Order: sequence, then structure tokens, then C-alpha cells
Amino acid sequence: MLNGKVAIVTGGAIGIGAATAQLLAKQGAIVVIGDINEQTGLATVEQIRGNAGQAYFRHCDVSHEADIQALVQFALDQGGLDIMINNAGIGGKPAPLHLTENHNWQRVLDIDLTGVFWGQKYASQAMLAGGKGGAIVNVASIAGVAGSPNLGPYGVAKAGVIQMSKTGAIELASAGIRINAVCPGWTETAILDTFEPSVQERLIRSIPLKRMGTPHEIAELIVFLASPAASFITGAEYIIDGGITSM
Ligand code: NAD
Repeated sequence: MLNGKVAIVTGGAIGIGAATAQLLAKQGAIVVIGDINEQTGLATVEQIRGNAGQAYFRHCDVSHEADIQALVQFALDQGGLDIMINNAGIGGKPAPLHLTENHNWQRVLDIDLTGVFWGQKYASQAMLAGGKGGAIVNVASIAGVAGSPNLGPYGVAKAGVIQMSKTGAIELASAGIRINAVCPGWTETAILDTFEPSVQERLIRSIPLKRMGTPHEIAELIVFLASPAASFITGAEYIIDGGITSM
């Protein structure tokens, strides 16, 4: 379905981003992974190529504006930018807001909010110049929908990402550029490593489906929203969380 489309996935070296890159490539897209982790990023690229997919790795720290501009330019050099997945993110050091250190607050906002702003901004500009429309999917979180104790900066950043997706979607709908936000709940990836195993077990007990999501399950939703199958969907926030926010 995505034959020949060029897609960027930030934070595509491991986790949800890697699963998304693999699925996009399986559907025929040319995938550009932008990540700070070169070793795992190149391993994911090799895996995709081993399955007859097309993929490239570019070093990109999403908290550096010039890195994102260069990433978008690299995609344009592959034939144009059709799909942008702003996925890179960190959880930050868990602490209640009143004890959150300023440097932790700033670092999470730099990566999880400003990084997505630059990704959406420069992808939008490239898609507008290309004149063929495009699809942007921003990876937010259920932490941006409800209060998120001990993950204050993360929740604030993710709420901002949802808002940014809706605003951009309205501004660019007439140009055929769709922008949506995906809000995963607890998903089995390295981002959860900061949580003690006992905390993780408690989290699982609180999920109606009694398990965490898999990166592949989240990737299925992201790729659907990026594909022509979602042609009438823009400005939406999709929760995918095993039912936890329904409680
Ligand atoms: P992960 O830690 O497994 O992977 C994150 C990737 O982002 C890594 O490859 C890492 O190298 C990269 N990255 C980190 N900082 C970066 C930077 N400054 N520039 C570029 N790349 C950077 O995490 P994940 O769980 O796959 O998370 C992916 C997205 O999903 C994040 O935005 C995260 O907030 C969101 N999310 C995850 C969960 C979860 O439970 N795992 C839940 C909700 C939302």
C-alpha cells in the first residue's frame, strides 16, 4: 500500500519506532530512521534490508534543530517526503512535579515537545513544497490525556504534542496534509526500564487486558494512520492502551 513512499521515523532504532519502521518497509515504503543510537539504528536497517525492504539510518538528535532539518533533506534526496513519524521520546527521571529538577523538566520538553515541533514543522514545509500532501503521525501518550503522577514533564510534553497535532491538522488540511496523534498506554519497551519490576507488575494489574501492549501493536495503528486507508482521518488522537483510560 505504501510502495515508493518515503517515510521518516524518529527514534526508529528500537521499540515502537523500530516496529513502525519495519512495518512501513514491509508495506513498500522507503524508510529513513533518525536516531541518536547508531548501533541499534543500523541493526534495524540491516533487519529491514534482510527482509527485502529499503531503509537508511541517519544520526539525528531531535533536540537539535539542524539534525531534523538534515534528516528531512535526506528524505527529500530519496525522492520526496510522504510520511513523517515523530516518535522519538524519553520518559525522564520519575519525580512529583514539585520535586522535579529544572534540568530534567527542560530535557524532557526539548526532546518530547520541541523535537516533535521541529519534526512537524520541517516535514510540513517539505510536504507543502512537494505539493502532494502527506501524513504526519506524532507519538504522544495516555500521559498527555490524563494526569500522570511522577511523570509531570512527560505528561505536559505529550499533552502539547496532542494539541500541536490538532492545530497543524486544521492549518494544513486544505493542502492534503493529515496530522494525527497516537496515545499508547504501557508498552513493552526500554522506556519502562526506569520503573522497578514491582511497579511494572502493579501497572499490569491495573490494565483491563492484563498485559502491556507490544511495539508491533502500536506500530499497526501508526502505520494505518500514515496510510491511504486513513484518508479521512486528521486532527485525531487515538488511544491504544488495553482499556486503562476507560476505567
Ligand atoms: P524506547 O526507549 O524503546 O525507544 C526510544 C527511541 O528514541 C530509542 O531508539 C532512542 O535512541 C531514541 N531517542 C531518544 N532520545 C532521542 C533523541 N534526542 N533524538 C533521537 N532519538 C532519540 O521507547 P518507546 O517506548 O519505543 O517510545 C517511543 C515513543 O512512544 C516515545 O515517544 C514514547 O514517549 C512513546 N510512548 C511509549 C510508551 C511505552 O510504554 N513504551 C507509552 C506511551 C508512549
